[in-house]
Amino acid sequence: MTLSSVATALITIVELPYAYDALEPFISAETLHFHHDKHYASYVVKLNELIEDTRYATMPLEEIVRTSEGAIFNNAAQAWNHIFYFEQFSPHAQHHPTGALKRAIEDQFGTLEGLKERMTTHAATLFGSGWVWLASDKDGRLYIISKSNADTPLTDDLIPLIAIDVWEHAYYIDYRNMRKSSVEEMWKVLNWRIVDERYDAIRA
Ligand code: FE
Repeated sequence: MTLSSVATALITIVELPYAYDALEPFISAETLHFHHDKHYASYVVKLNELIEDTRYATMPLEEIVRTSEGAIFNNAAQAWNHIFYFEQFSPHAQHHPTGALKRAIEDQFGTLEGLKERMTTHAATLFGSGWVWLASDKDGRLYIISKSNADTPLTDDLIPLIAIDVWEHAYYIDYRNMRKSSVEEMWKVLNWRIVDERYDAIRA
């Protein structure tokens, strides 16, 4: 099945918002070709097979994540998580948060570096496959959350702000077993402008 034929299915594959080589040397074009075109796309293809002729077939992806379980949840959440993950990077990243998010980080974690170190430690120590999240509640309080496999703060009624993919497929081509190094380098292309927008949208 080609990507163009998948695009006409129930849930569509979202293209990367930058060129495959745009995040080099921190995330390589080879990693993004595998991560986006193989891993993420496979979750979408599998999800479309699973939801055909079910009540999920007409739902937006986020609603499927919130209301499903089992294999449909796993593939829907992985599809959603990856769109969210790819969207947060930019070759022209804004390197610091501003405004309300900057204040919340400094209130709760002291400094931006303090937050990044804590999230990096969560990512380095999460056992097996999963995601480390920065999320917010509806009042703007921040949480660092480690989740196994496809799990997401969406189902805890929290609002995701940053996703760190610690499945081996996210880093193994570039960093081999050095997961912590991959996260330290990831911060260099994380676009805090997107994170600011996600945070500001909570109380908009
Ligand atoms: Fe991934």
